Amino acid sequence: MPSMMTQSLTISSLIEHAGRYHSQTRIVSVETDGTTTRTNWGEVEQNARRLVSALEKLGCETSDRCATIAWNNRRHLEIYFGVAGGGFVCHTINPRLFPEQLIYIMNHAEDKVLFFDKTFLPAVVQLRDHLPTIQHFVLMSGYDEEAAQQFEGLLFYDDLLAAEPDDYVWPELDEMLPSSLCYTSGTTGNPKGVQYLHRTTVLHTLGANQPDGLALSAKDIMMPVVPMFHANAWGIPYITAAQGTSLVLPGPNLDGESLVKLIDGEGVTMSAGVPTIWMGLLQALEAMGSKAETLTRSMVGGSALPSSMLAEFRDKYGVELIHGWGMTETSPLGSLNQLLAKHAALSMDEQAKLREGQGRPPYGVELRLVDDEGNRLPDDGETQGNLQIRGHWIVDTYFGAETSALTEDGWFDTGDVATIDPDGYMVIRDRSKDIIKSGGEWISTVELEDIAISHPDIANAAAIAARHKKWDERPLIIAVPHEGKTPDSDAILSHFKDRIAKWQIPDEVIFVSELPIGGTGKVLKHKLRKEYGDLLWDKS
Ligand code: ADP
Repeated sequence: MPSMMTQSLTISSLIEHAGRYHSQTRIVSVETDGTTTRTNWGEVEQNARRLVSALEKLGCETSDRCATIAWNNRRHLEIYFGVAGGGFVCHTINPRLFPEQLIYIMNHAEDKVLFFDKTFLPAVVQLRDHLPTIQHFVLMSGYDEEAAQQFEGLLFYDDLLAAEPDDYVWPELDEMLPSSLCYTSGTTGNPKGVQYLHRTTVLHTLGANQPDGLALSAKDIMMPVVPMFHANAWGIPYITAAQGTSLVLPGPNLDGESLVKLIDGEGVTMSAGVPTIWMGLLQALEAMGSKAETLTRSMVGGSALPSSMLAEFRDKYGVELIHGWGMTETSPLGSLNQLLAKHAALSMDEQAKLREGQGRPPYGVELRLVDDEGNRLPDDGETQGNLQIRGHWIVDTYFGAETSALTEDGWFDTGDVATIDPDGYMVIRDRSKDIIKSGGEWISTVELEDIAISHPDIANAAAIAARHKKWDERPLIIAVPHEGKTPDSDAILSHFKDRIAKWQIPDEVIFVSELPIGGTGKVLKHKLRKEYGDLLWDKS
């Protein structure tokens, strides 16, 4: 006989907790039409249960995929919990993908239901004929005459829920059942699906929110700017339910001005998003004269955090940026940058230097470096190698794949090149496909971009490898100047002197008005390589 209780680690247990102990805690939701709704965890929990009942009536069975194409809003939150808590799989889809990718993903996942916000009605109307597995299309709103006319058989979320009782009881589920599904953006090849389990999601919820992790509490007001279609919004919906944290869901408008208004208007204490979003926020704070008084910290990840940004948020607004690293394949949190007790003795600058890195793994995951032959490399803070990860919330086999994605000894190769120091602090040096190999030596594009962006005239920059007759590859900077600034190439290149070894200084700087940004807010380097990759060839 077991000596202790065992209970399934399920997503319904998270929302049940929020509904029972934090029912009055506020959830602010910016809707697709721009209006604001105020609800709370109690209502979200009740609506999520109604949704399970509605989905059962629509014929959904255990592990059926229900897809979403939606912004961060309250209905999306209810769908997260209702779909998974009912034993179905919540498949979040990135609306910024190309139509062919959307069709591929929905057919590959064999989605049965599609929930979508009105913004995406024209796109869904276009795609509809290519989506044979989808039996029910549900607009995430009340009845809408205009939409109903364009779309025969369209269902309306609010009507579906209104028809259901509120005494429905959460079904008991096995923790090894799948709960949600997310596809990688597929910058190379077809997107690959990662299907999370109830157990892995709950363990990630607990692991990512330790005191040296996100550390969200019931006293916080959290605004996830990272989209709910991007790697589960870094787990924030689940973590905030477990903690009873108040949420501000920013809806469709993620420009700096809209975010500043929400931060100041709703008293946001913490946020999370990719660096490009925070660049927009910094400009808006300055322009609007806001001090972001209530904001104490923000998590930044998805791509490298520029060092200048860390200092600007700290010095001007008293906001601590917490750098984290992860992937769709890792649920997503793999490391988070919080300091150790011994670092208190370091100067502010030394501490800031440490915090620029991607941090150390929380309990629940482990990181290691290997060379191309799979030999273990030292954690000495200097040796660069292929970053591998294993743990309680890491992918094993991609959705629908026959074979495991892991190495023979059970680790997942991230495709990132990193260093790890003896305390476990990891620094991403590059993605293995982005790194520049000049005369057999590696040059980190992350480092080059960081230096370029620290120049006062430069708003954003990307470093790429350009083909070169003598050195194979040489670095090239593609830079976006700040509005009204017209820096010249020499000024930017001289900014690299003394900041980096001479042979690593880029060969040229190209100025553009904007960089191509992909669906998850990252610069599309393959596009830049295609456009500028041969620029040095004739000159070399
Ligand atoms: P994709 O970018 O392919 O859509 P993900 O969103 O899962 O996929 O991104 C995972 C990748 O993003 C990581 O492998 C890494 O290259 C990059 N990444 C994530 N966080 C960081 C970070 N803090 N610093 C640098 N790179 C990061």
